[in-house]
Amino acid sequence: LPEPRAQSPQADDIAALLPRPGAESDKYRRGVLAVASGSDRYRGAAVLCVGGALRGGVGMVRYVGQEVAAAEVLNRWPEAVVSVLDPTDPAGSLPRRVAAWVVGPGRGLHPAAVVELETVLGADLPVLLDADAITLLAKRPHLVSERAAPTLLTPHAGELARLLPGTERADIEARRLDHAARAADAYGCTVLLKGSTTVIAEPGRPAVVNPTGTPLLATAGTGDVLAGFIGALLAAGLPPRDAATCGAYVHGLAARLAHGGAAISASDLVDAVPAALRAVL
Ligand code: AMP
Ligand code: MG
Repeated sequence: LPEPRAQSPQADDIAALLPRPGAESDKYRRGVLAVASGSDRYRGAAVLCVGGALRGGVGMVRYVGQEVAAAEVLNRWPEAVVSVLDPTDPAGSLPRRVAAWVVGPGRGLHPAAVVELETVLGADLPVLLDADAITLLAKRPHLVSERAAPTLLTPHAGELARLLPGTERADIEARRLDHAARAADAYGCTVLLKGSTTVIAEPGRPAVVNPTGTPLLATAGTGDVLAGFIGALLAAGLPPRDAATCGAYVHGLAARLAHGGAAISASDLVDAVPAALRAVL
């Protein structure tokens, strides 16, 4: 079968979509993003995701997580507002009065993570799910398919295979656009499929193929940065498809610009986001 129709954005398309602060802006109106990533075991996923969000131009990041991860976030990003998750009451300890959520990178698959996921998806707010949150969702598809508020899933091919029972990773790699569209239809939400070429699918809309990707991104932690950066755009009020389109574009450009084509780490990527934004705006 031929792949469905797709579009590919250019720099001026991205510039037109990216939010810019104005005289009327304040930190609340620019958007408050809640980040539930990382754990005491995977502290990097907390630090990198918050870093991506802060460089995305959010008004405020509210990080919530386990004690050591929370301390690490605060140490690296003193501008983040941090709270420690109460393991006996994960639902009760989540931040309120936020504009959007990012959930999943390095978070774990334990029962408290399930309660957290159900609670966040139960709120009427835009939510980005990545990594462990996608793995948990695969066994509870109704959590997203029955949701009214916008949801964005950002799987890599292995995670997308979990979302589409009976599908192997190799099938997805062979027809990436097609499978992203299948998942978007099945879950009734936006899907950004990561990998060699990042594609974004949404029911009833043409797919987006990101033109800036580079294999320099194939290193641990870069997906966590992407999740945080796109989360910032969701918190600013961009619809998931636009947030994902801008996020993937700037993320790829940042990887290319970081060291002029030499190898990068995920931390380098966080630091290169401003140069990528400058190149676009
Ligand atoms: P994750 O799979 O969550 O670790 O995220 C990895 C990031 O690197 C995503 O943004 C992918 O799109 C990107 N990536 C991984 N492999 C490649 C590749 N071969 N070419 C371009 N981008 C890649
Ligand atoms: Mg990942």
